[in-house]
Amino acid sequence: MRIGIFGGTFNPIHSGHLRAAEEIRDQFNLKRIIFIAAAVPPHKALEGGISGEHRMEMVRLAISGNPHFSVSDIELKRPGKSYSIGTIQFFRQRYGSDLDLFFILGMDAFLEIGTWKSFQELFSLCHFIVMTRPGFDKPFSATILPPEIADAFAYDEGGTRLIHRDGCSVHFQGVTFLDISSTKIREEISKGRSIRYLLPREVERYIKRHHFYRAKGN
Ligand code: ATP
Ligand code: MG
Repeated sequence: MRIGIFGGTFNPIHSGHLRAAEEIRDQFNLKRIIFIAAAVPPHKALEGGISGEHRMEMVRLAISGNPHFSVSDIELKRPGKSYSIGTIQFFRQRYGSDLDLFFILGMDAFLEIGTWKSFQELFSLCHFIVMTRPGFDKPFSATILPPEIADAFAYDEGGTRLIHRDGCSVHFQGVTFLDISSTKIREEISKGRSIRYLLPREVERYIKRHHFYRAKGN
């Protein structure tokens, strides 16, 4: 079984996430993609103070009706910071060795992976799919790997894959460039501007109803 894990703060989820996930599911023939909202992201402060439950609810609204997408509260239930290593170990134990696990992330996130907890171990536990993202269109080569582990990889002939000596691979996948970020959406809201079509209508309504991301007095 081929399953994708797509983690993020989803603060809020937007069409850049959704379209990229759809293209990855299709290209890699994944049975399912599990969206995982991080509780306390280890690498950045959470702007807007929106709880994990609300961010997860926005994911749920965004993916409803897509049988290939689901959402997990694993990182919200676990106390403390959300480390990907714990999440991947959880899914490994839950599904056993039959599972082909693909960790999906954008190039911007992958370039920071050398700062993640136990990142070296991660590369032995799951495959990675690194997606292009506007502003981060670095060419794919071994130089995007943290230097500590670059030696553990070999190039695949096609040049879109690096293979770890333990068998897992790092794939590189171009997705439609959608220059949308949660940061931009939060900024537009705080300026009182429209966010329509940057994210699903149901999520927009949820944000409005709860007055998320609004500047004081706005
Ligand atoms: P923020 O601006 O708050 O950092 P974000 O838009 O980057 O929000 P995240 O929740 O940080 O969203 O991202 C989750 C994952 O989705 C990351 O791996 C990120 O690289 C990827 N991602 C986000 N937006 C896009 C996009 N427009 N195209 C491709 N990948 C994206
Ligand atoms: Mg981000």
